[in-house]
Amino acid sequence: MEHQIKKEPQFWINPNFRLNSPHFHFAWFKADMTVLRQEAMIMSMERKVYQTNTQCVVCMIKPDHSSLDIVYADNTKFDNLRLQKWLRETIRDEITQRAKIVLPCRLRELEKKHKLFGNRVLVKKLRGNIMGCCSVYNDISLIPGLIIMPQALIDSVILHEMAHYKHKHHRKSFWSFLSQLLGEDAKMQKEAMDIVLSKYWLQIKFLMK
Ligand SMILES: [Zn+2]
Repeated sequence: MEHQIKKEPQFWINPNFRLNSPHFHFAWFKADMTVLRQEAMIMSMERKVYQTNTQCVVCMIKPDHSSLDIVYADNTKFDNLRLQKWLRETIRDEITQRAKIVLPCRLRELEKKHKLFGNRVLVKKLRGNIMGCCSVYNDISLIPGLIIMPQALIDSVILHEMAHYKHKHHRKSFWSFLSQLLGEDAKMQKEAMDIVLSKYWLQIKFLMK
């Protein structure tokens, strides 16, 4: 006999779901089903629509992907797994688009500030639990989910990778160079950031999978 355990999501995306991000926001709006159905008819790059016989949810997208307005009706069944998947993927795609604008821009700013220059910046999914990496060619890759973390953490991840422009290892010289960039002890800063990170990591893993 086979026992199948249906995996429950770690988070439910519903009007109580919030992100505390400096670069990406979303808001929830309740609307009349008739209005919603009309909105759903409008074909536009700036909206995504979820529709069944009884359900209708419309996501309004900003051209710069900085926010998502989610419009739903009173009868919306947020415990429906298909709707959950749709909402998660819609949010994930928007976070990814936004990250591709925000992260390279911030990295270039920090490069100018520290007069330390690398090669390409790539925003993409990375294997395992890493947030960034730096190649032998000084190409930096960063995960899109970074943008839903506090700015201090984003900067600390970027500076860590930038320090690899000079030191391709994690030996003592790497940490002292990174300390110079950060203006504080890099190992202690990392411990503090890991605590902050643990608050966001499950949410990132869930949204970005
Ligand atoms: Zn490293």
